[in-house]
Amino acid sequence: MAQGHRKDSDKSRNRKDDDTLAEASHSKKTVKKVVVVEQNGSFQVKIPKNFICEHCFGAFRSSYHLKRHVLIHTGEKPFECDVCDMRFIQKYHLERHKRVHSGEKPYQCERCHQCFSRTDRLLRHKRMCQGCQSKTSDGQFSL
Ligand SMILES: [Zn+2]
Ligand SMILES: [Zn+2]
Ligand SMILES: [Zn+2]
Repeated sequence: MAQGHRKDSDKSRNRKDDDTLAEASHSKKTVKKVVVVEQNGSFQVKIPKNFICEHCFGAFRSSYHLKRHVLIHTGEKPFECDVCDMRFIQKYHLERHKRVHSGEKPYQCERCHQCFSRTDRLLRHKRMCQGCQSKTSDGQFSL
């Protein structure tokens, strides 16, 4: 019974609100945009992105961006610091982290990865760092 292609069934399910889709594209025929219909019925207009995440239906401009994003779902962190065993999703994060071990600013906020030369500065920072975690994300899809 459940032997159909998973991808296909997901797609058709995602597209069940065809009426909304037709209406939206009707009023903006000349504009080259894609209307993404969420499962809860809401939809949003986006510029065309051809790389779709099968986990959350997020769309990305290139396979590089998609691959990097999928790591969020798999929990994989391929970049490991050889000094302290911390792991990172992006190479950029690892490079930035490695400066911690150069000795200049050995104290790092694990929330936003900012580095500080003294513990008291780090502690002071941590007190006002509650909301700065969202700054490190791409802002693509924070569900
Ligand atoms: Zn995703
Ligand atoms: Zn390290
Ligand atoms: Zn911080």
